[in-house]
Amino acid sequence: EIYCDNAATTALDPEVIEAILPFLTQNFGNPSSTHAAGRSVKEAIDQSRNTVARILGASPGEIYFTSGATEANNLALTGAIQTYEISHVITSKIEHKAVLQTLARHEKEGDIEISFVKLDERGHVDLYHLENLLRANPRTLITLMHANNEIGNITDIHAIGVLALRYNAIFHTDTTQTIGKVRFDLNQMDIDFLVGSAHKFHGPKGIGFIYINKKHKIKPQILGGGQENGQRGGTENVIGIVGLAKALEVADRDLEVNQSKVCRLKQYLISKLAISGIANICYNGDSKSIDNSITSVVNVSFPCLTTESIFKKLDAAGIAVSGGSACSNLGNGSSHMISALPCQRDKENVRFSFSKFNDFDEVDYIVETLVGIYGSEHAGRKKEKE
Ligand code: PMP
Repeated sequence: EIYCDNAATTALDPEVIEAILPFLTQNFGNPSSTHAAGRSVKEAIDQSRNTVARILGASPGEIYFTSGATEANNLALTGAIQTYEISHVITSKIEHKAVLQTLARHEKEGDIEISFVKLDERGHVDLYHLENLLRANPRTLITLMHANNEIGNITDIHAIGVLALRYNAIFHTDTTQTIGKVRFDLNQMDIDFLVGSAHKFHGPKGIGFIYINKKHKIKPQILGGGQENGQRGGTENVIGIVGLAKALEVADRDLEVNQSKVCRLKQYLISKLAISGIANICYNGDSKSIDNSITSVVNVSFPCLTTESIFKKLDAAGIAVSGGSACSNLGNGSSHMISALPCQRDKENVRFSFSKFNDFDEVDYIVETLVGIYGSEHAGRKKEKE
């Protein structure tokens, strides 16, 4: 079995498993309880928050744990729109649905107008257009993701933060695909809200976080016992929180080594495909790029075959990839992101996404399998003609 779908989710790191074990067994107290069993668990949450804050260059009071990036995106957007009576939001057509659907609801309810920033032919944000939109619209919230989960494009969130500052806008960014892969120093960045999710960097599922710049306190979306400093009610997911912090610590410690490995796997896949004899391969977005695209993602359109048929053939050969993203697979099968790109072949795209647990042999096997698929297709067509 070859797992090459790490943008959908990743395997738990053994060090993470070790770190969470005591919280699955003896350390089960409720962190809100003031007895010793509760206090020790509260201490573990505090330490986890400190770790996340230190690694991201934030202060602990700016980090709040949530059930994942979906919830964190909902909290940032709805919270900011309601707290600051935002009437205009700038986003792009290739954001995650957790962002687009939240905005669509606010638009339908008459709270906001949405402007979609232009994307260039490779799917990168047109900063000139963004500035024009900002100049024309006061009280704007910008929501643009750091790396796109389907095509891997990286957006210059430093530059966008500066534009937000210049035009008095609020800037939210979804960094789910870059946390643990890219270093952040939030103290040096002009970002108001930022979100991440542990299961994308070898942590557990169902746990994520939001960074809320200390300038802000937004309207909570989940009310209850006042946990997370009143920003998110509900007994904390202790196992998740401890696992998230450990996963981020390990990712940060080994970042250079792992990123250079993953980057080489990406380059190797691209070079092997180039000499595979499969004609007319097209790279979606900027996913062939090493600098403008995340190291883990390669999104390819293959000729003649649909995503579904390639996906099934690879699956039968024991290779897990993704056609579009796991999230868009819940919809109609085609990708809202790739359809939004000027040169789209959305019915044909396959996403390979690597992690530190992949190796070169696996890439060889993937390419051999693809060559086999095209070989038999070709033979089948020839036979039909005869
Ligand atoms: N944003 C992006 C960019 C993602 O890739 C994902 C996961 N597909 C999410 C948000 C949602 O994250 P979660 O699974 O933690 O809800």
